[in-house]
Amino acid sequence: MGSMKLLRRTRFGDPVLRLQTRSLTYEEILSPETQELIQNMRYTVEKKRYGVGLAAPQVGKSLAISVIGIKATPTRPNLKPFDATIINPAIVETFGKRTGLWEGCISCGVGNDVLYAKALRYKKVRVRWQDERTRSHEAVFEGIVAHVLQHEIDHLNGVLFVDRVRDNKTMITIAEYKKHYLPKAH
Ligand SMILES: [Zn+2]
Repeated sequence: MGSMKLLRRTRFGDPVLRLQTRSLTYEEILSPETQELIQNMRYTVEKKRYGVGLAAPQVGKSLAISVIGIKATPTRPNLKPFDATIINPAIVETFGKRTGLWEGCISCGVGNDVLYAKALRYKKVRVRWQDERTRSHEAVFEGIVAHVLQHEIDHLNGVLFVDRVRDNKTMITIAEYKKHYLPKAH
């Protein structure tokens, strides 16, 4: 796989981020073009230390594909890794009420200037999707995976995390978030 490349990311304000993405047929999922796009999206997520997911509109493609790559980081050392390519996903059930959870988006800001805010998210969701080999899946997720899936599936529906923020005063940079809200390492 020597041809994998880092994809250029779109940013807040790019109209592609506001489009409803198109679903893919089985033939389209298996096409060389889609397979290459998925490989490059995975590579791009892998290279970004704090990025936990990347949706196709974030690299300029209005397609219902998202790549999740959750791994432990210096600020989140206890995370259990979770990797998946989700295609044509839908949240088919939610559990309980939404609560404000801190999150940011790599399409808004760079490095320490990434925008962070408390967005309303469900603690637990049931998701249905297809993978890169067209297999169908349905599963219930909670914790960080449920959180990331809601952010990613929103991207595929033209919704950005700022749309889910109830208290605008929580909008801060990731640098200030780390300073004020992250427990200090011992
Ligand atoms: Zn995002």
